[in-house]
Amino acid sequence: MKLILLGPPGAGKGTQAVNLSRELQIPHISTGDIFRANIREGTALGLRAKSYIDAGSLVPDELTVTIVTDRIQRDDCKNGFLLDGFPRTIPQAESLAAALKSMNARIDAVINLEVPDDVIVRRMAGRRVCKNCNRSYHVKTIPPKQEGICDSCGAELIIRDDDRAETVLERLKTYNEKTAHLIGFYVKRGLLLNFDGTKEIPETTREILETIGKQDNNL
Ligand SMILES: [Zn+2]
Repeated sequence: MKLILLGPPGAGKGTQAVNLSRELQIPHISTGDIFRANIREGTALGLRAKSYIDAGSLVPDELTVTIVTDRIQRDDCKNGFLLDGFPRTIPQAESLAAALKSMNARIDAVINLEVPDDVIVRRMAGRRVCKNCNRSYHVKTIPPKQEGICDSCGAELIIRDDDRAETVLERLKTYNEKTAHLIGFYVKRGLLLNFDGTKEIPETTREILETIGKQDNNL
């Protein structure tokens, strides 16, 4: 199956991607990871990407699409893949569709993890990290034995700037603005499947697998 995974930051997309990749036996392709891999391996594409990143500018769509296309043509993708972090825009989605078409393939489904903004803010707001050893906690789900103190080293637990409500809301606003169009694009093509990301992670994984399993039979 050729899948795209969408979801706001803090929706549990990373964990869901790991579960789906394992259950469906398809590689989890995160654009961040393939950029880093290409740069590390010093490929021609990686060197081009690096020149933009080093200059502090955005990697152009055309290069991102080329890097992703190169990745999905490798052997381990012959049974499918799970794209995470790409496409982000309609031009990228169109280029991806065109690239797949030239390979005689297409996206089977777009999995959209829905989590309301206030739930994400609450999740993030409960995060704590040890300022000494970086061990992470959550006041509700992974509380330390003693409030505000690291179990491992006894140092103070702090809230990272990234987890503060105003930072989280700002990131969500950007995500929602950018992704709304993309969601519309895939709705129009009948590919979008919405899932409730507020449930326990294994529960959502099971629902996704059931739904796309049924879809597969209908193809
Ligand atoms: Zn610690």
